Amino acid sequence: MSGEMIERFLNELPPHVTLVAAAKSRTPQEILEAIDAGITIIGQNYVQEAEEVHASVGDRARWHFIGHLQRNKVKKAVPIFDMIETIDSLRLAREVEKQCARIGRTMPVLVEVNSGREEQKAGVWPGDLPELVEGITQLPHLELSGLMTMGPRFGDPEKARPYFQETRRAFDKVAASGTAGAAWRFLSMGMSNTYRIAMEEGANIIRVGTLLFGARE
Ligand SMILES: *Cc1c(COP(=O)(O)O)cnc(C)c1O
Repeated sequence: MSGEMIERFLNELPPHVTLVAAAKSRTPQEILEAIDAGITIIGQNYVQEAEEVHASVGDRARWHFIGHLQRNKVKKAVPIFDMIETIDSLRLAREVEKQCARIGRTMPVLVEVNSGREEQKAGVWPGDLPELVEGITQLPHLELSGLMTMGPRFGDPEKARPYFQETRRAFDKVAASGTAGAAWRFLSMGMSNTYRIAMEEGANIIRVGTLLFGARE
């Protein structure tokens, strides 16, 4: 997508929706062009790749971690990222707590929900969400800010809708329970093929890669 098209994409988004440019495998050059066109948040899936592009792009963008985070990578992730969208266990949350405490910062986090209940996929299963949310609220260096989901992949984006709806209901339930604090406000759902449906179902963060940068090799 050209800079002009990215600008148009941004202009057409409702003002309450935040766009994360999912930039796995994109070069610093491509990322900088996207930033020039108005992108403000870059999503990264791998800590090592993020370190490399962060070294040249730095604070010209904010950085969201959107991949599967291994505990032995948390120490390197914590200084780079402004939000971790993929907390899915208390063990991982506790490691983020430890590393944030060590460098004296607070980390906004989302809990990733495995809304499709797919064995091979990351994310907490919906039934285990209340307990994880409760556990994270005990960690002073984590700012519990909402939920993220991928959902199963279908050819027909409409089929993703029930999974977004379920995640939205889980989000509302946590909000109504009063367990999470004032920072509970983000629902990150939807990618290039599903972001419209995700927005209809309440997403206020969308993560878009292919549509902004073109197909990956
Ligand atoms: C790659 C990726 C996206 C964006 O996917 P596209 O189909 O390229 O828009 C969104 N979320 C996550 C977690 C990703 O890894």
